[in-house]
Amino acid sequence: CTILAIESSCDETSAAVISDGKILNNIVATQSVHEKYGGVVPELASRAHQQHLIPVVAEALRTSGVSKKDLTAVAFTRGPGLMGALLVGGSFAKAFAYALNIPLIEVNHMEAHVLAHFIEKPYPEFPFICLTVSGGHTQLVLVKNHLNMEVLGETSDDAVGEAFDKIAKILGLPYPGGPHLDRLAGKGNPKAYSFPLSDMKGLAFSFSGIKTAVLYFLKENIKQEPDFIATHLEDICASVQFTLVKMLMQKLVKASREHQILEVAIAGGVSANSGLRNTLKEAALENDWQIYLPKLEYCTDNAAMVAMAAHYKYRAGIFCDLDISPLAKMKIGYHG
Ligand code: ATP
Ligand code: MG
Ligand code: FE
Repeated sequence: CTILAIESSCDETSAAVISDGKILNNIVATQSVHEKYGGVVPELASRAHQQHLIPVVAEALRTSGVSKKDLTAVAFTRGPGLMGALLVGGSFAKAFAYALNIPLIEVNHMEAHVLAHFIEKPYPEFPFICLTVSGGHTQLVLVKNHLNMEVLGETSDDAVGEAFDKIAKILGLPYPGGPHLDRLAGKGNPKAYSFPLSDMKGLAFSFSGIKTAVLYFLKENIKQEPDFIATHLEDICASVQFTLVKMLMQKLVKASREHQILEVAIAGGVSANSGLRNTLKEAALENDWQIYLPKLEYCTDNAAMVAMAAHYKYRAGIFCDLDISPLAKMKIGYHG
């Protein structure tokens, strides 16, 4: 089978082609319009998707060497994401499938982040635990097979990517701040300052407290030393990153022990974080884990992961009707 996949859930317009399980390309247009607002503006995202989608699809078809008539299915991200953004990709995919008279496949964006692990070997063995950390989600997922996943625990408030971005914004870093905070953290002392860990029960996370804690910490220090942020930026970033990573790792270790699973993966935009990647490598030695880190281009939003998810659905004969609607909120495992 040869599938064209489209991703448009947030601020990346992306298209990829997969043929017999092999990803042929992954074209991503990142929207820069949001930078000056310090966050994604939904209406601007929809308009930018409309502008970028056709050139991105044309590029994906051209560089894959696959012509439209060779496609056996079209796939798209149905949710979760911004409704207007999802509508652009979804409507295009429907029209394309209808015009070519080929089946349509809907993909859950959070399942796709997990399935990015099957783009390149080594593949995790089932069952494995995936910590999915992104701009909108923080989830511990028990992955039973390509088509069956269960959320074991998730955040009760902000996502960890949101915490990275909001704290970076307070520190005056450009949007999205996660990668900037990561880079500066690499030059600082992670033990310079300490911030409270959350005390959530079980496998639940909470990241709203640390944002407030950092804000008050900065206010207090600025009173004594007006240039506090500028003169201590690297140490602040390192300490914040250390705390966020520790909060993630505590629950990941707990999930692995409770379920007695030693196959451990991370996914989503924040899985690009160097602090998380290094700490995971250390934890693998301590806990006897086999760990799986996605390539950086498959951490943040991309259509290759959507194509991968669609491939497994195609093999199982799971298609959808042309009257399907996008879902801004869509749980893992939802079929309806
Ligand atoms: P979701 O997948 O939950 O719908 P999203 O699609 O917006 O949200 P992704 O594209 O998967 O999220 O990830 C974007 C997030 O990843 C942003 O919050 C960004 O700051 C964060 N991020 C990317 N690289 C890094 C990094 N190196 N360190 C920390 N955070 C990072
Ligand atoms: Mg993005
Ligand atoms: Fe995402």
